[in-house]
Amino acid sequence: MTAQLSSETAAGSSQTFDLTHPATGAHVGTFPVHTAADVAERLAKARVAQVWWENQGFAGRKKLMNRWLAWIGQHADEICDLGYEETGKTRGDVQFELIASLEDIRWAAAHAERVLKERRVAPGVAMANYSARVGYRPLGVAGVIAPWNFPLYTPYCGMAYALAAGNAVIVKPSEFSSATGVYAVESFYKAIPEAPEGLVSWITGFGETGAALCKSGVDKLAFTGSVPTGKRVMAACAENLTPVLLELGGKDATIVAEDADLDAAAEGIVWGGLFHSGQGCVCVERVYVVASVRDDFLARVKARVEAVTVGLEPGKDYGPMTLPAQIDIVRRHVTDALAAGATALVGGLDSIHEPYIDPIVLVDVPEDCSAVQEETFGPVIVINTVPDVEEALRRANGTSFGLGSSVFSKHRGREIAAKMRAGGTTINSVLTFVGMPSVPFGGVGDSGFGRFHGDDGLREFTSPKATTRKKFQLGKEVSTFPRPADQYKTLAGFIKFRYAKRRGVK
Ligand code: NAD
Repeated sequence: MTAQLSSETAAGSSQTFDLTHPATGAHVGTFPVHTAADVAERLAKARVAQVWWENQGFAGRKKLMNRWLAWIGQHADEICDLGYEETGKTRGDVQFELIASLEDIRWAAAHAERVLKERRVAPGVAMANYSARVGYRPLGVAGVIAPWNFPLYTPYCGMAYALAAGNAVIVKPSEFSSATGVYAVESFYKAIPEAPEGLVSWITGFGETGAALCKSGVDKLAFTGSVPTGKRVMAACAENLTPVLLELGGKDATIVAEDADLDAAAEGIVWGGLFHSGQGCVCVERVYVVASVRDDFLARVKARVEAVTVGLEPGKDYGPMTLPAQIDIVRRHVTDALAAGATALVGGLDSIHEPYIDPIVLVDVPEDCSAVQEETFGPVIVINTVPDVEEALRRANGTSFGLGSSVFSKHRGREIAAKMRAGGTTINSVLTFVGMPSVPFGGVGDSGFGRFHGDDGLREFTSPKATTRKKFQLGKEVSTFPRPADQYKTLAGFIKFRYAKRRGVK
């Protein structure tokens, strides 16, 4: 399929690039390489259109976003086909991604007013003669830069939270998944034709196009991608003090405690490690199993992994690797681990037959290996054995990443989850926080900062605004010149009265 380019958004650039299916080589679409001038043109239109959008108010935006949601729901098959064509993902994986995207649009539209509407707060004793309110103003125009591995979710999710909060949006999809990114933006106008030009727009191209968006003067840059690019994005945004949200890589760990349901653990870990060929920021890449249940657990994992099917035909569990360069990283990690003394429980280097990689499970991998410390982003699961949960926690928290995590334990799940250094932890399952728009999604450390999803995800695209109002004069005015002669004495008395004596403090 050739992506439909609206003449307006495609205008202004002469260079193009082609997108093809990673396994069949079938042509998916041809896209412009947009320049800094194209970005500036979109930003100017977005600034005008944003005023219209903000003026719709919470109720108006909710109504229009629900119309957009319904339009996407009606065209789901077309979207899933496009996602499959450009990434090679199974249609089932694209459907999961689409559902997560639609939940985000639904939730953000439904909850924006509750979270962002101006509300009264207590002024405090020292300012008792004032009233105080806190509101959340839209930032203006948000830039959303997306990766190829979740080509639907990232553009839709970025648009959902930014739009619900009253902003205009410019989306830059990955050069490897531009068709679905462009479709996401154009679907908005299909559903809401009366929306002014530029309220949402797309730009396509490579790193230079993304860098131009970072330097354009947008009011927020929401970036999802790799750690090295995230650092470049932050540096470029610093030029204009543009605030950034960084959703970066992961090396998610799962702990299997001695009281885990081992069948559930094996089921969750095998799916969480292998879906979309392991090319998910929140895929299970490392497992720490307590020694007392190791053998039973490994037997269950082996049986499940050996039943996994790989290929393009309908019904296969996962498809090809999307990028050839990623296959080299997987090969390096597996080679390093085996050379360092790891054992392959399932598969090995022979599992790599481009563009496919059959599942690989490595056990007893030294903790300093690349397969434990770096993002592998392929269908490789590392399982290491630990004496107890405390050691599992120490190792799980021992990489520079901190995106997702999970724990399997019948009785200690919450206690262990609370100690995991990650933006989200699932107990007795995997990845579930990704599909829940009510909880914040994001990472710590090299996995980035800032949040999509939930109340925090909506506030991410706003600036808090304090409004205070004087209601009456309380005693003598202290904020005045000339200073009242007894001001020092009055304030000293207040300080002593209010702060010097605290209950429980001697
Ligand atoms: P990438 O960093 O190579 O590219 C991401 C996007 O940045 C692309 O659109 C690219 O064109 C653009 N870009 C490249 N150079 C740029 C620059 N200098 N300035 C601005 N933009 C630039 O990442 P990728 O390979 O597309 O995606 C895979 C990575 O994304 C993995 O590390 C994965 O873990 C991460 N990821 C994270 C999340 C999350 O929510 N934390 C979600 C999905 C993917």
